[in-house]
Amino acid sequence: MKTIGLIGGMSWESSLEYYRIINEEVKNILGGSHSAKCLMYSFDFQEVEKLQHEGKWEQLEKEMILQSNNLKKAGADFIVICTNTMHLMAPQIEKATGLKVLHIADVTGEEIIQEELDKVALLGTKFTMEGTFYREILEKKYNIEVIIPSKEDREIVHNIIYNELVKGIISDFSRKKYLAIIKKLEKEGAQGVILGCTEIPLLVKQSQVSIPVFDTTDIHSKAAVRYALED
Ligand code: GLU
Repeated sequence: MKTIGLIGGMSWESSLEYYRIINEEVKNILGGSHSAKCLMYSFDFQEVEKLQHEGKWEQLEKEMILQSNNLKKAGADFIVICTNTMHLMAPQIEKATGLKVLHIADVTGEEIIQEELDKVALLGTKFTMEGTFYREILEKKYNIEVIIPSKEDREIVHNIIYNELVKGIISDFSRKKYLAIIKKLEKEGAQGVILGCTEIPLLVKQSQVSIPVFDTTDIHSKAAVRYALED
């Protein structure tokens, strides 16, 4: 079994899910008392969030590379970044560490293809919804059309993530707002919806949505286990 190097704390609410799902999945596959070999560096999210909103991505990249190299030194065989947004610097981390970064958009794209869908909606932070680093992988590599909410709705989705979900606040009121936004995207032709922020699955569940939901925390964690157990 390979040792998984997790970069977490973005936020710890979702890192907890990664840790749980990864260990449960290893146990499901190997049985007995098996659990995952993993290491985690966990950021103080307050610092990360501040730099993100100030647009200081170069500083964040340096910090992400530093911590990835520390995980490598400690014995990590590959890197799992426990957030969609920070995949912005995934190529730079791979280059600087020489370690594989198991990309969240890749494993999500593969799952969407398996479901034979070709037009999906993407919910996440503004950085993820509006940037090209995430959507281009889905569009160019997997031929999936990606639609995003209107500007006003993107604002709502983004603010609920930073003001509530990363702080562990799960509210019915916000859930209703998300479900209404998903309904609008469904009317625009979305055959499925990517929960492209690792905290959104804490708020929205498949049972509440009529189209297929792609829970990136679950998909990414299980893909990490598959990769860790590959020869
Ligand atoms: N966990 C979120 C994501 O998957 C947001 C936190 C962050 O900005 O890294 O994008």
